[in-house]
Amino acid sequence: MNTNDRLEQIIEKFRAREYRMTPQRMALLEILCTSTEHLSAAELYERIRAQFPTTSLATVYKTLAVLKEMGEVLEISFGSDNDSHYDGYNVMPHPHLICVRCNKIVDVETTATQTLIELEHVKAIAERAGYKMINHRFDIYGLCPACQAQEENY
Ligand SMILES: [Zn+2]
Ligand SMILES: [Zn+2]
Repeated sequence: MNTNDRLEQIIEKFRAREYRMTPQRMALLEILCTSTEHLSAAELYERIRAQFPTTSLATVYKTLAVLKEMGEVLEISFGSDNDSHYDGYNVMPHPHLICVRCNKIVDVETTATQTLIELEHVKAIAERAGYKMINHRFDIYGLCPACQAQEENY
């Protein structure tokens, strides 16, 4: 599905739930659906505020909560809500590489993901323990190339 179709679909869902589609909300949707950066709510807020200075952080959180409920955004949480990062580009559960120093989050390359985690395989693991799988999460923590380079310069 291309980005425009996806945006249209999300806007329809908002309308169906009688949420107002404000320009601020639209800007948030556009950033989320096109960016592979896995931004936090605070980072999303900064970007939207650059265009719409009157936007509130509460609006960003509320819109993210609605999107999450619709299954249109993936939340990558670090325990506390304020630290969460969001992936609206790929909303299927997928592994992430997370830098423990700068908190940069990137997707594991797709072909590697397929061999690493086959959805059916993960489901089978859950079923063997008598669970019905709802979601799964697999993250790799480390230092990103930029942070490693910085370390070498010290
Ligand atoms: Zn880093
Ligand atoms: Zn991702």
